[in-house]
Amino acid sequence: MARVVVIGGGVIGCAVAERLSRERRHHVLLLERDAIGAHASGAAAGLLSPHSETADLGLSSRSLAMFPELVERVERSGITVEYHEHDSLTPALTGEEERGLRRGPGRWLDGHETRAAEPGLTESARGGLLVRAAQVTPIRLVRALARTAAAQGADIREGAQAGGLAVSSGSVYGVHTADGPVLADVVVLAAGPWSAALASLAGVVLDVRPSRGQLVMMRPRGAAPRHVLTWQGCYVVPKPDGTVVAGSTEEDAGFDDRPTVAGVADLLRFACDMVPALAPARHARRAAGDRARTRTAWPGRGDGAQPDRDPAGPGHGRTRRPGPTMTPMMMVAATAEGGGWRCSVEVVEDGDRSRHTVRLRSADLQRWGQPGETPDQFVARAFEFLLAREPAAQILDSFEVADITRYFPDFDREMRG
Ligand SMILES: Cc1cc2nc3c(=O)[nH]c(=O)nc-3n(C[C@H](O)[C@H](O)[C@H](O)COP(=O)(O)OP(=O)(O)OC[C@H]3O[C@@H](n4cnc5c(N)ncnc54)[C@H](O)[C@@H]3O)c2cc1C
Repeated sequence: MARVVVIGGGVIGCAVAERLSRERRHHVLLLERDAIGAHASGAAAGLLSPHSETADLGLSSRSLAMFPELVERVERSGITVEYHEHDSLTPALTGEEERGLRRGPGRWLDGHETRAAEPGLTESARGGLLVRAAQVTPIRLVRALARTAAAQGADIREGAQAGGLAVSSGSVYGVHTADGPVLADVVVLAAGPWSAALASLAGVVLDVRPSRGQLVMMRPRGAAPRHVLTWQGCYVVPKPDGTVVAGSTEEDAGFDDRPTVAGVADLLRFACDMVPALAPARHARRAAGDRARTRTAWPGRGDGAQPDRDPAGPGHGRTRRPGPTMTPMMMVAATAEGGGWRCSVEVVEDGDRSRHTVRLRSADLQRWGQPGETPDQFVARAFEFLLAREPAAQILDSFEVADITRYFPDFDREMRG
């Protein structure tokens, strides 16, 4: 039986623990620093809407189709997750929005039909697109996953921080905890936006950063909207308990998941503009959490430090722009070599793996490096610069960092920041 340590008790870590413990072929230990679902996974709105969150509609639709079976299984834990399918309505307020929406999947309603379907909607709606979606109550889902995993034999520990990865000769062999190292055949990094710091201890560069999202919950005076309403990344969601959730912001605020006056004000304004009948609602609660955002906003999928052993794909984001189908993932290892470093870089992009040898002179690290930046961190940043301009397959197999300026004169300015 393989020993698997999962770091992080959000929805990703708990879903992994539930899946791996199901056939009882693995010893699963999940370490959660705080409480199950204490961060983004407990703060989320719970929308399962393949059309609004990502352009990879195929992947999201397949994922949504798995829910009924998953829900049936985890609700045997005694926790109902309040899953239900519904229509989601995206109004068009301008001609341009209408043209865009009419090209998408779903059923187009003209202005008259839209107002009949959703009487409280803004008068400015000239039509709307109806699509099928679903929702859950996120904290219930995470707890149900954790409880199911525990019933299947997984050891779920709350208040248990993974201090770091235990690494030897470039291989991860366990996790450091306050009670000493825990040995593992496989370590799954599901620590949300905190994953990058943990991964860097194993020489793995993960393109994951925090992105604060805020929500406000209202208790309407009259009838709640009949549909989930989505518009330009924001939404108004009627919940089973009669409240209405408006969300969400997307902010670059570092590791700070406290709600702000400005965030709440923006969301209340959006909700009342979209559904004027919500203006007299009582403001019930607010919530915020840090999403783990990737550079491209697409989910990281693939392998980490030891390609066959340590899957690491935390993070994604929200996007409606077309983009690459996967977040490039990088592994950088730097070895000191006469007056600088020799760095081996491995990039996984769209399922293809490319390897590069990069020489970095000490003088170039001094010239372009940021205070405290290590050679591997610097080279990872240089690769982020390159990958924003060309696919990994076009990057030379072997080169000097200083050579990049010959091909991309803006390298100097960008790297100095
Ligand atoms: C306001 C808001 C609304 C959202 N709405 C939706 C929505 O409607 N639909 C949707 O699909 N998504 C939504 N999301 C996104 C969704 O919440 C996240 O994508 C998801 O919860 C990420 O889960 P996770 O398990 O990766 O991360 P997290 O929930 O952040 O879990 C990571 C866990 O790792 C733990 N951890 C960190 N470091 C360590 C360590 N060293 N040792 C042990 N544990 C550690 C943390 O304590 C945390 O509990 C929303 C997010 C926000 C903020």
